[in-house]
Amino acid sequence: MRVVGVVKTVPAEVVAEAVRLGLRDLGENRVQEARDTIAAVGREAAVWHLVGHLQRNKAGRALELFDWIHSVDSVEIAAALAKRLEPPRRVPVLVEVNVGGEATKHGIAPAALEPLLERVVAQPGLEVRGLMTVGPAGEAGARRAFAGLRELRDRMEARLGVALPELSMGMSGDFEAAVEEGSTLVRVGSAIFGDRPSR
Ligand SMILES: *Cc1c(COP(=O)(O)O)cnc(C)c1O
Repeated sequence: MRVVGVVKTVPAEVVAEAVRLGLRDLGENRVQEARDTIAAVGREAAVWHLVGHLQRNKAGRALELFDWIHSVDSVEIAAALAKRLEPPRRVPVLVEVNVGGEATKHGIAPAALEPLLERVVAQPGLEVRGLMTVGPAGEAGARRAFAGLRELRDRMEARLGVALPELSMGMSGDFEAAVEEGSTLVRVGSAIFGDRPSR
């Protein structure tokens, strides 16, 4: 299990200090806002994860800044990434699933996951490593969503014959439940860096 320190709104000096203290994986949720932090801390100083929603027109920029993309939720995004990827580079991606079916959340619906995965796996240069979800508020609902993501992963591995070892799930408020349900990448911001100013 790896901890991805989510550094949105955290001053670059603080991020750099966390890297010096040994945090290896860092996450940002917006391409635009990540640029300054990554430039200040160093593109090579950490493994950078894009954990937030990606727009198609930012695919090229995202590939310059990030090592992992957690938020592929459409064929269009996958194709945009594949098109801008320069061989022989391969990029690890996760497919984001809206397990709880919440209208406000990004991610593909569980019922549409299998056909999407088939098409993402077929994109040249994209290495599909697993699934990602943002849990609903509340411990019980979050745990159900995390267990649901793990079950979906098991089913997709069996049906498609691909390995999907990574489960990106769990944030500051619910990472214990996520780890118990099999998370391999917890995305923790405020529990490490303190509360964010509201924006
Ligand atoms: C902000 C964010 C996190 C971290 O949230 P915390 O509650 O501060 O731990 C994790 N995942 C995504 C997608 C985020 O946008």
